[in-house]
Parts: sequence; C-alpha cells; structure tokens
Amino acid sequence: MIEFENISKKYPNGKVAVEDINLKFETGEFICLIGTSGSGKTTCMRMINRMLEPSTGKILIDGKDILEYNEVDLRRHIGYVIQQIGLMPHMTIYQNIVMVPKLLKWSEEKMRAVAEELIDRVDLPRSFLDRYPSELSGGQQQRIGVIRALAADQNIILMDEPFGALDPLTRESLQKLVKKLQVELGKTVVFVTHDIDEAIKLGDKVAIMDSGSVVQFDTVENILLNPANDFVKNLIGEDRLNEAQFNIDVVENIMMRNPYTINVNDKASNILTMMHKNRVDTLFVVDDEHKLLGVVDIFDSRKSIFKGEHIKDFMKHAESISVDTKVKDAAYYINTLQYRNLPVVNDDNVLVGIVTRAVIVDCVYENFWKGYIPEDEQHEEE
Ligand code: ADP
Ligand code: MG
Repeated sequence: MIEFENISKKYPNGKVAVEDINLKFETGEFICLIGTSGSGKTTCMRMINRMLEPSTGKILIDGKDILEYNEVDLRRHIGYVIQQIGLMPHMTIYQNIVMVPKLLKWSEEKMRAVAEELIDRVDLPRSFLDRYPSELSGGQQQRIGVIRALAADQNIILMDEPFGALDPLTRESLQKLVKKLQVELGKTVVFVTHDIDEAIKLGDKVAIMDSGSVVQFDTVENILLNPANDFVKNLIGEDRLNEAQFNIDVVENIMMRNPYTINVNDKASNILTMMHKNRVDTLFVVDDEHKLLGVVDIFDSRKSIFKGEHIKDFMKHAESISVDTKVKDAAYYINTLQYRNLPVVNDDNVLVGIVTRAVIVDCVYENFWKGYIPEDEQHEEE
C-alpha cells in the first residue's frame, strides 16, 4: 500500500509542482496518474522512490514512512521505467533482463530461471536470451523492455509514460502485455500517462491531476459515470462519456416501470380484457407478492383461454434480467437474441420493470447518435 499524506513539492526555483496531495493506492492495484503536461504527475511519481523529496507531507509504503527505509534499498525494491524502454545494445537480451537482479546479487541460477520464465510469458523463444537487441524487431525489443522492468521481482513498478513515443499498434499490444503481467504477477503499478484512453484501458483506479492537484481519484467506472467537474468531463470527452454511460449503465435506470401483469390465480378470460384495454399482446404472470412466474402471449394462449384453463397450466417461462443487468447486455439480448422485450426483476424475483425494443432504441439514440444529427433536424423532429 502506498499513501500520500498532504504532499506538496516546491522546486528550488519556487515553482510549486504539486500541492496537498492525498492518495492511497492498495497493493496489487494498477493506478494511472493522468493530467496535462506540467500538472505534476512525474513529480508525484518520483517522490515514491525518493528520487525527489517532498517539501511537506509524507509518503508511507505498507504503513511505514519511506524516510525510514534505507534509500538505496527502497529504490532497488521499486521498479522504475521511463519513456523509450531502451535496451543496452552491447548486452545480450539475457544481460539486459537481469540488470537489476545482478545489482541485487542474485545467483546465476535464479537469474536464468527468472529470465526464462519471463520470456515465456511474452511468447518469445528462449533462444532470444543469447541474442543482441539489434537482432530483434522493435516490437520484440519493447516486450523485453517490459519484462526487464519485472525481472527484479519488485512489488511496486513506476512507469512514466513508457509508451508515449510508440506507434498505436505497438502501444496497444504493450498495454495489453503490461496489464496481463500486472494481473498475473500481482504487482502494484503506478503509471503516468496523458492519454485518457490508456488510463481507461489500464487503470483500476485513475488519479486525475490538474495544476498540481488531484481533482478526482476513483475507479474508472466511477469517474466515467460521475466526472467530478468540467475539467474531468473535458478530459474524458463527450463521446467517451456517452459510450461509458451505455456500457456501464444498468437497466434499472432506463426500464419502464409497472409492466402489465396478470395474477396467476385470475380467470384466464381476464387476459383478453387486460390485453385489449392496454393494447398489448403479452402479459407477465405474477403471484400475490408480484413475483414473476411466467408470461402469456395472445397468439400462443388463445385456445387455452377459451377453454378456461388455469393460467399456471399454459403460461410460458419468461426469460428475465435483473435490475443490475448492463444496458449493453440487454441490448444484446434484444438485438442479437431477438427478444421483443425483457421483464426486469429484483433480487427477490419481484417484477419491477420491462425493457422493450423501443427503450433500447431510445438509449442507443441518446448515447451514440444525438450528437451527430444536425441541430435543425432535431428540431424538425420535435
Ligand atoms: P508532468 O509530469 O505532469 O508533466 P511535472 O511533475 O514534470 O509534470 O512538473 C510539474 C511542474 O513542475 C511543471 O510546471 C514543471 O515545469 C515544474 N518542474 C518540474 N521539474 C522541475 C524542476 N526540476 N525545477 C523546477 N520546476 C520543475
Ligand atoms: Mg511527466
């Protein structure tokens, strides 16, 4: 666990780079620090391994003030990766990977084992260990750079815009790799970026910085759903906010309430009256506690209704979704699986709403299309 307590940093020239930062990173979390250039990200990061000393406040690692750790020890136990993961050209891949373990005086045996394990993890052949960087492609070299950062088995890895200068494809494959390794190996990663897509993709939690302050620190989901202010909204951008809303929102927020129902003990003939009165062709069947039991459809049930059978004997099973089903999943059921509508139930199976095709259409329109339709056309429609 890494904690920032009232951290401020004023550089000797008087520049206040960060002011009163309070943050808490849990062990095993992938934390992204994001903000515009000059907002204080690098300053924050470098204080964690004491490359910079804060002017005020303290930083704790696992509850202990970092000033109480031996400085060299501390730095050896925290990995640090900066832009352009440069490999040493005159050293083999193996020697590059075990640079820090060598400083830590690991045995040759242990270093070999770790290098082999890591190169396996990034799907490169072990024979590469004895080659030189120039014999590998750019992308392969980058992957070696990533595993080098993990070789010393440090629990905390600091990464300062490591992929900033890469082309989009290489960048994306390295992002996936870093995330995969972080999860597999349970590392705590503090990752600086100015790319919001990168932060959203990688971060369990994201700290958004502006002019030396943290304006929001939360999970990606919470930030997307509840951006703290206009700065955060602008950073995320309207399209992403809308898309996130759609991807994260749950059906409880969009469903129609009070769908038409019939009690399972009612007379079957009431079905027709109810349907006619409300101009619907299906009714959900509920018990006295309004729990969902099934569904009746006018076309399927006509004969049974005329024969006066009990509703429970001819109703059909109703596929239902729960209040916390994601809107995007409901859209999938309706669009791909061709459900006309879906009853929504709470944890006790009580029927609380319905999601119809029309509701999904509205939702897609609101989230994806509204901004693309010219203003005047929108007015014409209204
Ligand atoms: P970021 O990484 O978010 O781009 P930095 O933490 O590098 O931001 O810098 C924060 C602010 O502190 C900037 O205004 C920068 O110019 C200033 N700064 C950074 N390093 C120094 C330094 N060594 N001396 C004086 N000012 C600095
Ligand atoms: Mg920086």
